[in-house]
Amino acid sequence: MADYQPLKGQKALVTGASSGIGAAVAKALAGAGAAVVVNYVGNPASARQVVSEIHSANGVAVALEADVSQETQVLAMFDAARREFGTLDILVNNAGIQRDSAFTQMTLDQWNQVIATNLTGYFLCAREAAREFLRRGVVPSVSKAAGKIICMSSVHQVIPWAGHVNYAASKGGIMMFMESIAQELAPHRIRVNSIAPGAIKTPINRAAWETPEAEAKLLELIPYGRVGLPEDIARAAVWLASDESDYVVGTTLFVDGGMCLYPGFATGG
Ligand code: NDP
Repeated sequence: MADYQPLKGQKALVTGASSGIGAAVAKALAGAGAAVVVNYVGNPASARQVVSEIHSANGVAVALEADVSQETQVLAMFDAARREFGTLDILVNNAGIQRDSAFTQMTLDQWNQVIATNLTGYFLCAREAAREFLRRGVVPSVSKAAGKIICMSSVHQVIPWAGHVNYAASKGGIMMFMESIAQELAPHRIRVNSIAPGAIKTPINRAAWETPEAEAKLLELIPYGRVGLPEDIARAAVWLASDESDYVVGTTLFVDGGMCLYPGFATGG
């Protein structure tokens, strides 16, 4: 465990923590002192691996299965988390999928799957977390806030994305969802914020970085000149979950190597 533990004594739940960004966030929160629920849906071995890495670093973690798009499963997961850790201080809404297709070829199933996981899943988990935060209130020895919710959005909450309209619509929806609940919950000392990653090397976008040609093409979109790593996002999540960011409410923190800076205009326009 790290010496600096801004989340000591806190309990966190990270959805989709068996892979990519969620796995890195779960490990970083645990390294910062939080006990962590590692949520997964289809891959228990990967979730167990994340838990075992946290245990090896003297952290506290359990894996809990739930499909975040299913209300009964979400309710059962939050009950299990409370039984395990007593309460909850931090939710990281992270589970997300892509089902890409040209718009005119997109099936209703592709549309519904993405909205159900990326948007409805965030609603169901945030609602349960907020209910627990309201029930318990602020515990000053733990945190200045009654609870923190972090939504993993994307640069595609502002950058349109042809061929991925279900995904872009879900991320645009997350922006207004996050800001609206941030406004509603702030008087109860619940802080809600988003992180908008740019291109991060994970399985979700493997095709975009796994060959040198693909990576070179991707780098044309990234002024900072490197593809991001899950740990870049994990460090931002620790900060947003900690009292170091206590006055940060309803904000999206872009962690994107400058992807939103219209890189095409660097030499044109
Ligand atoms: P990965 O594909 O590596 O991981 C996705 C995770 O979500 C997995 O743990 C998966 O679980 C879980 N998951 C999928 N569906 C469900 C569900 N219905 N219920 C519970 N868990 C589910 O993707 P990333 O780590 O890249 O993505 C994480 C988040 O970051 C997503 O919201 C994504 O949109 C966002 N993001 C990613 C970017 C990137 O460049 N990688 C850029 C911008 C945003 P399992 O393994 O068990 O199936």
